[in-house]
Amino acid sequence: MKGSNLAVLAALDLPVPPGFTISTSAWREAGTAGLPPAVRNEILSSVEWLEGVTGRMFDGADRPLLLAVRTGARHAMPGLADTVLDVGLNSRTVERLARELGDLGFAFRSYRRFIESYCALVHGLDPGEFDDVTDRERDRAGWVGSEPHSIVDWRALVVAYLEFVENECGASLPQTPLQQLYDVVEAAFASWRNPVARAFRMVHGIAENAGLAVTVHAMIFNERGEKSGTGRAVSRDLKSGEPRLTGEFTLGGRGIGEAIGIFPDTLNLAELAGDGRERFPGDLAALSDYVRRVEQHLGDAAEIDFMVGDGELFLLQSRPAKRAVGEAVRIAVEMTRENVLTEEEALLRIDPASLDELLHPTIERSEETHVLARGMPASPGAATGAIVFTAEQAIALAAEGRRSILVRNETIPEDVHGMHVTEGVLTIRGGTTSHAAVVARGIGKPCVTGAGSLRITQDGKALIAAGRTFEFGDALTIDGTTGDVIAGTARLRRPTLTGDFATLMSMADRARRMRVRTNAETPAEARAARAFGAEGIGLCRTEHMFFEGERIRVMREMIMASDEEGRRSALDRLLPIQRSDFIELFEIMAGLPVMIRLLDPPLHEFLPKGEQEIADTAQTLGITEAVVAERLQSLQEFNPMLGHRGCRLAVSHPEIVEMQARAIFEAALEAGQRKGKAVVPEIMVPLVGLRKELDFVKARVDEIAELVMAEQGRSLTYLVGTMIELPRAIVRADSIAEAADFFSFGTNDLTQTVYGISRDDAANFLSTYQRLGIMDRDPFQSLDVEGVGQLIALGVERARRTKPDISLGVCGEQGGDPTSIAFFEETGLDYVSCSPYRVPIARLAAAQAAI
Ligand code: PEP
Ligand code: MG
Repeated sequence: MKGSNLAVLAALDLPVPPGFTISTSAWREAGTAGLPPAVRNEILSSVEWLEGVTGRMFDGADRPLLLAVRTGARHAMPGLADTVLDVGLNSRTVERLARELGDLGFAFRSYRRFIESYCALVHGLDPGEFDDVTDRERDRAGWVGSEPHSIVDWRALVVAYLEFVENECGASLPQTPLQQLYDVVEAAFASWRNPVARAFRMVHGIAENAGLAVTVHAMIFNERGEKSGTGRAVSRDLKSGEPRLTGEFTLGGRGIGEAIGIFPDTLNLAELAGDGRERFPGDLAALSDYVRRVEQHLGDAAEIDFMVGDGELFLLQSRPAKRAVGEAVRIAVEMTRENVLTEEEALLRIDPASLDELLHPTIERSEETHVLARGMPASPGAATGAIVFTAEQAIALAAEGRRSILVRNETIPEDVHGMHVTEGVLTIRGGTTSHAAVVARGIGKPCVTGAGSLRITQDGKALIAAGRTFEFGDALTIDGTTGDVIAGTARLRRPTLTGDFATLMSMADRARRMRVRTNAETPAEARAARAFGAEGIGLCRTEHMFFEGERIRVMREMIMASDEEGRRSALDRLLPIQRSDFIELFEIMAGLPVMIRLLDPPLHEFLPKGEQEIADTAQTLGITEAVVAERLQSLQEFNPMLGHRGCRLAVSHPEIVEMQARAIFEAALEAGQRKGKAVVPEIMVPLVGLRKELDFVKARVDEIAELVMAEQGRSLTYLVGTMIELPRAIVRADSIAEAADFFSFGTNDLTQTVYGISRDDAANFLSTYQRLGIMDRDPFQSLDVEGVGQLIALGVERARRTKPDISLGVCGEQGGDPTSIAFFEETGLDYVSCSPYRVPIARLAAAQAAI
């Protein structure tokens, strides 16, 4: 929003260069067809106005008007056009400028740079390609260094540049300043559709039609001589949070010094403000006053871009100071201490999603840590897992509960689904704004890009790193904070969550109404979630407890059993495993609620796949592979996510419920005794559509409770509730609520069933939908408030009609998404439950929603 930003600076009566903004509505009008005549006319009259204000003329005979063109969007994003300077220079005006300033080198240097940046933006030409032209001209004319020294040689170099442009781009560089301006604005508008910008919007849920604006202002000759320069001033010391002028200033910019290889001096503003005032060519006290005024206006630490041209100070842009999340937290907390901000205002200053950066683990390095390569640190945090080369492989491993690292040359939108389920992403090409980097940061996954010394073999089946070959499934570790790629599995250290972070979190806890629980199955997840401040478990997916190692075999045996007897024998072996897992969870969560969901396995996730697994299963079950194949055939479902899963499994095989209820109750009694405090388990029935399904399962659970109490001679309190993840359950919520102690909205399945979009197949077309602007964001990540959300609101209203005090929560993926959390607050849910690493994000988002 540089345009309106300039307007803000002007309204604060701060010195800004004269200019105008071509608005987002002009961008919309332009579409993909180029600038319409009305927009061109508007630009023309603005230029005429600017000529009047500056007393310079575009293409003018003696004092040529030169312009800087910058893009701006409400949300800063990578991929948008870089600023183009000196629009208006051509083979005539360059000479006039040289004459006006009496500085040949400066004028021609500016022209040369303009040609390069015009061609980069308008024709996608890499500025490096001009190097050969320069080399040829140097050899031909016999000058030394990086640029000519006489007007004759400069002219010849420019002619060579222009010929090169014509040959390479198939079009000459326009010599009419107005045409240059139109071309640059048009290309700046088109940069909105750059793939990196697109990927960024997709991940951050920024609407495709939000659009950008372009600001045009008169050039300030900030790159000439000692009385000019460019800088960035900040209103605070971001490390300590203390209010004082900081930032930096580069004297002279691209002066002659740079041309001969001496880089311009960069001065530290904080040091200058001490005792180096005379080294600053403008008014430092005024600058300090300006940034303080902008801070007051923003109510947040401010940052301004400024220029000094011949001793005169101009402000170009202001924004809340860019800072690492840790610094943002410190400043917010510091500003509440100074009573500059209230706690509520401070909470609103922090983007909940940005906290993610503070929550990631780091690698515990040892002598054995073998760094194979170093790429770009593209998204923070460390991750360790098995190498996968495709999104499909990542999804397959995730289905088995295994961690993976996705290794690609570069990622494309179709990989996003795989990126969601992998631990981290490593790409061989690309920088910190590549598709992989942008997407990974958006979803909080560690990512290393541009690890150019690595190679994926032609067949895509192996990674060659430091002379070693790594194949699918081999362990690899990446550190997205440093860019290191490390062989094997590394130990990861959890982040510390004390100090200002803890202060901010307790401020959030005071402000929020909704509770925050976690989705966790393993002790490690439960512990991490508690450290992050989870107030209990909102979803323990029991089937996930069987993904690992030997356990999956027993689980398969149970699913593949041909009769109740076979199932019971497998269940007998599952019982002690479940019981001890539950005891551990209850102990970790001592005093906090733990909600355990009965088995909900879409069968396809558990059936043996491939020859090896089939052979294994045959051996475990003591039957032939042919019989296994036959059973597989009979269990095969066309649409397993809508198949024999959830409470349907419990209805057809009540013995499963009986085993699970027994494991839960026995564990609750045991853990309660160990801790000296009763555990109140919450048992959740999945995928209920009919009240009678819940009644049926609840009756089994109640029977087992009676039995266990009688066996142990002790009493037990427990709750039984249901997930609400089918549209029918919403419509019948009033009746179902009569039979339930609580509801937990399963927004993953609810989104799937409301939309009729398969969760597992959505990625194939959702990215296209987002690209075309048919959907703004992935409804599986951020709740579709208008559709699925309205149904949730209906369910809440109906449930409370028959049971006003029913406990209502959400445990789908969207439970950790700040925008969705705002909606859940509005709808009056009692809590959200999300994955452990999202707990702090949810605490802050819930606080912001309540403010
Ligand atoms: C849901 O459907 O939202 C849910 C939490 O359950 P699962 O993802 O295990 O189907
Ligand atoms: Mg579900």
